[in-house]
Amino acid sequence: MDSTHLSLEDRLHEEMIAIYQNVGRETGYWAHRYLQRVRRVGGLQAAKDWLKPTSNPTSGLQRLVEINRLDLSLEALVLQQPWSSLFTSEELSVAQKRLNAVSSFRLSEEVSDDQNLIEGSVCQVTINSHERNPEARRRCIEHYGTSCCVCGFNFEEKFGSIAQGFIHVHHLKPLSEIRKEYEIDPVADLRPVCPNCHAIIHLGGKTRTLEEVKSWL
Ligand SMILES: [Zn+2]
Ligand SMILES: [Zn+2]
Repeated sequence: MDSTHLSLEDRLHEEMIAIYQNVGRETGYWAHRYLQRVRRVGGLQAAKDWLKPTSNPTSGLQRLVEINRLDLSLEALVLQQPWSSLFTSEELSVAQKRLNAVSSFRLSEEVSDDQNLIEGSVCQVTINSHERNPEARRRCIEHYGTSCCVCGFNFEEKFGSIAQGFIHVHHLKPLSEIRKEYEIDPVADLRPVCPNCHAIIHLGGKTRTLEEVKSWL
């Protein structure tokens, strides 16, 4: 189907069905009741029902937290352009609060297990919950762009459109210094960094300053 002839509402409907398929493929979790509801009342109505302050988060949300894929959630989807324009600010704030709530759940888990957070390898960086929070990430990138703040590398320039928007987001404060109820400031606390520089920042389980790593280049 040619999606350019569909209304924004119809495209959201398709996107919400795509979420079901992506989550199923990536996690093995097939949210049948979610799909039934989207088909019965339409994506937009279903999303609005789920985003009432009194309704429960979509059942897959906790599952997505566990596998670090909150980016696949309905809550993350509606916060993105162009879909956010279909929702009221109250509905969007419900989505954001749910993401914050599950992110801080992860954080409190991770603080107690700080040693295991960062792999001491240049190939793999384990990203903390603030670095995964889709809305915080979006606002960080909106402010700083998608080039690495340490070495200037830009994935789209190097690899073309397939890599558009790809970058890690690094959280400047070490997790061990963050308390549970901490509220993130995406511009003050986060910086876009490439995965190589990110690995060096955390190499050996540390959180180095960007200036220190920059001085070694
Ligand atoms: Zn870099
Ligand atoms: Zn980091």
